[in-house]
Amino acid sequence: MTGLMTAPVNLLDFDPAQLVAYCDSLGEKPFRAKQLQRWIHQFGASQFDQMTDLAKSLREKLATRAVVVAPSVISDHTSTDGTRKWLLDVGQGNAVETVFIPEENRGTLCISTQAGCAVNCRFCSTGKQGFSRNLTVAEIIGQLWMAEFELRRTKGIEPGPKGERQITNVVMMGMGEPLLNFEPTVTALKMMLDDNAYGLSRRRVTLSTSGVVPMIDRLAQECPVALAVSLHASNDALRDDLVPLNRKHPLRALMAACVRYLDYAPRDFVTFEYCMLDGVNDTDEHARELVALVQHGGPGGMAVPCKFNLIPFNPFPESGLLRSKNPRIKAFSQILFDAGIVTTVRKTRGDDIDAACGQLAGEVQDRTNVQERMQKMAGYKKKFGDDFGRIVEIST
Ligand code: SAH
Ligand code: SF4
Repeated sequence: MTGLMTAPVNLLDFDPAQLVAYCDSLGEKPFRAKQLQRWIHQFGASQFDQMTDLAKSLREKLATRAVVVAPSVISDHTSTDGTRKWLLDVGQGNAVETVFIPEENRGTLCISTQAGCAVNCRFCSTGKQGFSRNLTVAEIIGQLWMAEFELRRTKGIEPGPKGERQITNVVMMGMGEPLLNFEPTVTALKMMLDDNAYGLSRRRVTLSTSGVVPMIDRLAQECPVALAVSLHASNDALRDDLVPLNRKHPLRALMAACVRYLDYAPRDFVTFEYCMLDGVNDTDEHARELVALVQHGGPGGMAVPCKFNLIPFNPFPESGLLRSKNPRIKAFSQILFDAGIVTTVRKTRGDDIDAACGQLAGEVQDRTNVQERMQKMAGYKKKFGDDFGRIVEIST
């Protein structure tokens, strides 16, 4: 007889409300869900028999129908600067990366939301891989779950709320476009923010997007966290070329969305990321155009409250692009700075282990796989039209 064995549910797929609903379906009270959640997300437990304050009958019930499973680790490298990168298996030849960046007084985890990415920005090696698939909630929150407790194990710090938190900040800046995998991303965000899980403040969780305008508005309604927008260009013609999504959501619409978002955001500014590409987007003229854009490009000519984060391009051979020279980056940032815009230049971390921005490409994948994905992408484009990213957006 088939049908007797149903696949176990992965409890990492649930946000706090869904965990309550799941426990309810087992005839358990909401406080049980809270206990269960603490075991999983505060103690890193994956075995139900570890969960000693749950009734034995419940533990047995769970053991037959549920699991707690994060993607398995393929490789684990630590850079000389302390940056640690995990490559995670998400099945069918796909791998994604998670990067931990330790700094004084904080530890930031950079997590992925998709295997590959359909946006296909010119300067991004993830984009060059094409799109494979959206990550599930368990695969997204599983990165934080795995990393927090792995880091604690390495340092000998006890699990549980008393042990020192290793990850204090999360940035969704790994592989993929989080707003094109909206629901799972938001579900995972809710768990990150929950006091009975990681308890991160909204200000310490940053979602980075290439500018999926309608989804920026949805995020404002469903789970506002700090917002970073990958700008990379000071006018539409240039941005159309660098970030193809701009053809669909041009700068005017994007600036307006940023202003609307700020009414709900935990911070009173948007962070604009700007990848510095030699001779492409890094002249004084571009800097002045940028100043005008953010000072008068909002609705009705208003300013867009923002900070700039200039990212020195991390080159990869297929891109045909080069990193701006340091003096150029300095001159560029000076123009923004003189206009009164807070501007930082991102330090490159984890260079020696290929963990820097835009280098996350899942190096285990062989080239035939990339070919396959490119073909799949071409197929999707044929079927759904050139702007394939839209398909993902509609289905969320
Ligand atoms: N898809 C989202 C989040 C992931 S990319 C987004 O585009 O915002 C995270 C950041 O790394 C983005 O600002 C992206 O533009 C930047 N980035 C991508 N490739 C890069 C590269 N080769 N060098 C430097 N920054 C890069
Ligand atoms: Fe996708 Fe972001 Fe890379 Fe663009 S920069 S291809 S949106 S991951």
